[in-house]
Amino acid sequence: MIRAAVVVSGVDGYLRAMNEITPIAHPAAQPETRQRKPDWIRVKAPMGAVYNETKGLMRRLGLNTVCEEAACPNIGECWTKKHATVMILGDTCTRACAFCNVKTGMPRAVDALEPQHTADAAAELGLEHIVITSVDRDDLPDGGASQFVKVIEALRRTTPHTTIEILTPDFRNKAQAAIESIVTARPDVYNHNLETVPRLYPTIRPGARYYASLRLLESVKRHDPSIFTKSGVMLGLGEERLEVHQVMDDMRSADIDFLTMGQYLQPTPRHAKVQDFVTPKAFDAYAAIARAKGFLLVASSPLTRSSYHAGDDFARLRAAREAKLATVRV
Ligand code: SF4
Repeated sequence: MIRAAVVVSGVDGYLRAMNEITPIAHPAAQPETRQRKPDWIRVKAPMGAVYNETKGLMRRLGLNTVCEEAACPNIGECWTKKHATVMILGDTCTRACAFCNVKTGMPRAVDALEPQHTADAAAELGLEHIVITSVDRDDLPDGGASQFVKVIEALRRTTPHTTIEILTPDFRNKAQAAIESIVTARPDVYNHNLETVPRLYPTIRPGARYYASLRLLESVKRHDPSIFTKSGVMLGLGEERLEVHQVMDDMRSADIDFLTMGQYLQPTPRHAKVQDFVTPKAFDAYAAIARAKGFLLVASSPLTRSSYHAGDDFARLRAAREAKLATVRV
């Protein structure tokens, strides 16, 4: 869901957009109990024949999905449209980020059938665009990069018209080799989420490094400028407005094309608390500022997730690049 843009023109417009963003309360001011979700967060319970069909297919092919593992609020809507994000390299992550519901532990061996099963799922679902993500696999010498390559190759063979978006981990300490191999396989979109502002990394994303993530995306663009790059942040974790603006600037200096922003939701009481429910109006204001900073595309709403409406957004992304190139040519 992309909300209507708030038009930003000149300094006045920029300041107006900034004022739409609700100031975020200091974490210490928040109550200890879980906050009640506001009305704009409520979603329909997942059900229906197509939803069950999508679920059945994933089980039959032995595939994991981030939709289920991350307890995504959009699963009812997405699976009813047969949009599922496959999570490769198993269901167990080697990291323990404070926001993420995926289980942590020692993962099992990599499934050699997973690439073809992923491609078979894309073919059966008739997907024009697929998003593939994975758990972190710090235990593997290549961090799991070769499995991403195998999945891309299987998809190109089996369903050549499906466009491919990958959402990868940071491949910490092995990023350069991982990027080189994945970029050579030519996904259409390379996504890696910064997740939050750098100040919150030690508590929210302790196994990762903000600038390493940024460099990864910059490096993808340097290797192949034709690949769209994408990144996202969750809001409501205690970040300040100007810190979010700084993240946008950092992303633009890494030439990232597409920014997604969504509300962080606490998956269980053991995870990081929601510090603030950012209003839809404030999401619109952030989007306006991001557009003014030069992103090709911005998706910003409480329920925005990296892969939410990814197919439609990919079409918009391509159109935006075409329009930009046309302006340069004139
Ligand atoms: S938004 Fe993404 S993760 Fe959530 S249900 Fe939809 S496809 Fe799955």
